[in-house]
This record gives sequence, structure tokens and C-alpha cells, in this order.
Amino acid sequence: MPLEEAQVPVLDRGFILGDGVYEVIPVYSRKPFRLREHLKRLQKSLDSICLINPHSDVQWAGLFAQLVAQNQGEDQYIYLHITRGPAKRDHAFPKQIHPTVFLMSTPLETTPPEILKTGVAAVTAQDNRWLRCDIKATSLLPNVLLRQMAVDCGAVETVLLRDGILTEGAASNIFVVKNGVVLAPPKNHLILPGITYDVVLELAANHSIPCEVRAVSESEVRTAQELWMTSSGKEVLAITTLDNQPVGDGKPGKLFWRMHELYQNYKATAMRRSEAQPIQ
Ligand code: PMP
Repeated sequence: MPLEEAQVPVLDRGFILGDGVYEVIPVYSRKPFRLREHLKRLQKSLDSICLINPHSDVQWAGLFAQLVAQNQGEDQYIYLHITRGPAKRDHAFPKQIHPTVFLMSTPLETTPPEILKTGVAAVTAQDNRWLRCDIKATSLLPNVLLRQMAVDCGAVETVLLRDGILTEGAASNIFVVKNGVVLAPPKNHLILPGITYDVVLELAANHSIPCEVRAVSESEVRTAQELWMTSSGKEVLAITTLDNQPVGDGKPGKLFWRMHELYQNYKATAMRRSEAQPIQ
């Protein structure tokens, strides 16, 4: 149905309590990218909030195919949102649960080449979110406030630090290049396990780019040669200023360009593979 006609009841627990989870799945050439991985993360988020998955992976794949076919653009992104549904307002789960499922697909705008070339500005802030950042929860108020800090400073992302250690961005994962080595914070309860994060680490491993997954200190972030942000929407993007200071020489670095090229090639081959191996 047209987006503006879609409605949810005001007592929906997603609206009243932010009691739900979501996914964002990029679609290239009308094919969902890393579909299995997104559905696996969705299942983990649902398990974490004790909500039964309303569909099997095959059913989800069918729904996405319908949605993508009915929307414009070769490249789109699917937004998927599941809440614990409408119920009398009470924090505790209702006895009878009728989850609300919402899906939409919107044209995907990739980063314009001029932004890719200059990189983007970021600011830092204390990570004041809860301790289950691994759940892709719809209750995003802390992320909203943290990303707005970046926008208020004319920047694109807020890089989050907890107790002097890098966690992630307000809406992205963050990588640091130090002495020619790509450093990534480990996946734990303090960060969202990004699908793009996994792609970057896989590409680094497969192409002999030195990589370490370990705690990254604030001083390593501030003295980095390169900083990258990654997300399904932004792919891999260089952060070239942090708190108004240049990162390295203030331009996207050598390893960034290498990773950008690998990522674009990977996307093209992944699309060819997904034609051959549909979810069944
Ligand atoms: N961390 C946070 C907090 C996010 O909101 C996102 C997605 N916007 C990511 C990381 C990146 O995840 P993905 O690569 O799966 O988009």
C-alpha cells in the first residue's frame, strides 16, 4: 500500500514503549545484499527480546522480493520493523502477542563521488547508551541525540567512546588505521554487530590487509592515520576530520581506497552469486 496509508494502532508497544527490533537491508540491482546475514541478525535481535519470528527466512525472502518489485529503483533499501504489537499499556509482556510487522523500501542513494573523495567530518562523544547495543532495537533515543550532536556541529557522524575505549558510531561501526594495521573493536554487547563490519573484516583477511580485532583506545582514535565509518547505507566512508582536527593528512587514506575498491568488487560478485543461490 502507499506509505502514507500505512497505520499502526496508538497502543502498539512499538509506539508506546519502543518495544521492537528492526533491520535495514540494502538492495543492489533489485537483489538484497547479504540477506542471510541480515536475517540471522534479525533472529538474534528477536531472541534477545523474546519475540517469536513471525516468518521463516523463505517467507521473508518472498516478501522482500514482492516489495522490491513494487518499488522504484534498481538500488533500494528495505526497512523492516517488528514490534510486540498492540496491548493495554504495561511494561511487562502481554499474554497474547500479535506482533506488528512493517516493511518499506526506499531508493538507496549511494555516497556522491565528491564526498567519497573528501571524506566526512565526525565529532566524538561519551557513549551513554545502554549495555545491550548488540540488539538492533527500535528504541533509538540515545542514538538520535548522539547523532544530532554531529549534525549540530556540521558533521556526519558521532564517534562514541566508553571509558576511554572506542565503541562505534551513533549509526555506524568505526575502524581505525594505525601503523598500516586496520583496528576494529570486538563484537560484544557494546556495539551493533554490523553486516558491513563483517564484510570489511572478511575482505581485509582475504586480501592480506593487516587487521586486528581488539579494544581501541581513545588516544589511538585521536592519532589514527585513517578512520572509517561503515554501515549498510553508507558502505565504507573515510572520516577525515575528528573534532575539527584532520585525521592523518586530512584526506581519505591509501587503505581506505583499497577497501573501497574491494567493497565495490565484492558487491558486484555477491549480486551474481545471489542470482545463482536464492534462499530456499
Ligand atoms: N552501529 C549502529 C549503532 C548502527 O545503527 C548501524 C546501522 N545503521 C551500524 C552500526 C552498522 O550496521 P550495518 O553495517 O549492519 O548497517
